[in-house]
Amino acid sequence: MTQTETEVTKHDWSKQQLLDIYNRPLLELVYQAASVHRAWHDPRQVQISTLLSVKTGGCPEDCSYCGQAARYHTDIKVQSLLPTQTVLGHARKAKENGSTRFCMAAAWREVKNNRDFDRIIEMVEGVNALGLEVCCTLGMLSEEQALRLQKAGLFAYNHNLDTSEEFYDEIISTRKFDNRIQTIDNVRKAGITVCSGGIIGLGETVSDRISMLRTLANMEKHPESVPINALARVAGTPLADMPKVDVWDMVRTIATARIVMPSSMVRLSAGRIEMSEQEQAWCFMAGANSIFTGERQTLLVTPNPGVDEDMQMLESLGLKPMMNKKEDTCTRNY
Ligand code: SF4
Repeated sequence: MTQTETEVTKHDWSKQQLLDIYNRPLLELVYQAASVHRAWHDPRQVQISTLLSVKTGGCPEDCSYCGQAARYHTDIKVQSLLPTQTVLGHARKAKENGSTRFCMAAAWREVKNNRDFDRIIEMVEGVNALGLEVCCTLGMLSEEQALRLQKAGLFAYNHNLDTSEEFYDEIISTRKFDNRIQTIDNVRKAGITVCSGGIIGLGETVSDRISMLRTLANMEKHPESVPINALARVAGTPLADMPKVDVWDMVRTIATARIVMPSSMVRLSAGRIEMSEQEQAWCFMAGANSIFTGERQTLLVTPNPGVDEDMQMLESLGLKPMMNKKEDTCTRNY
């Protein structure tokens, strides 16, 4: 039986309800999240997404976790927009390696109506023609630009909340939390699916994590995908010396996201390089059903496990790559 997520999911979570879920005894929390996961998804399937940086570094924003911000002195090599054919070559390779989603990221503050945007449109058309779900993350976007991307075949747009509204100014000063929400609204209005999540390990409190998840879970329609990132510490950025994220914090955040947004794909995103297979297995048990992988063993500009390593891990855990296209409705097993 197929249902749209708005028919059966809850969109009026209180902060206390989320806190009560997050703070449950760990094994009870994981058990509940695993039960929700099994009711809404095939728990053996993991979506493999490939993320390619199509324009790297030189960004005018000041996100304190990001090595691509021009103002921080990092080792990241600035790269202007890649040629369309180069990007399509990477997309073909990603498909051969089992990816069903190909995400292109450009380190821009916002999309501008110029030749670079025309080239992004060409890339979206080309990747779509390969039969992959196409996703972009390009910064802020107007409704008209979102519509242009949708017409080119864009399936999803990534725009993370990063953290809570309350903590936002501590992490980024060059834009406001409301700007994020506005872009997500523009993406929704254009009929593109939404990929939006956040990062843990920025120095936020549990209350901030809950507040971020609550913003996502109380959207009129839940984001179809919710990436949960552990801070990837980049030398030269203001957050380079933050402590490593505790795996149980990741597990609790993933489990809470799974319970409150049952139909969404919950993506175990940045930070996997610092996690053992056993730790990642806990995240899958807690309801994560997607990972990013990359032929160059990077996730944008930070290290990530390689494709072969990931495939071996999935095999040893009895998981398999999701080969079919994910629709924005969910098949629930009653
Ligand atoms: S996270 Fe994105 S917007 Fe922020 S500095 Fe990095 S590339 Fe720019």
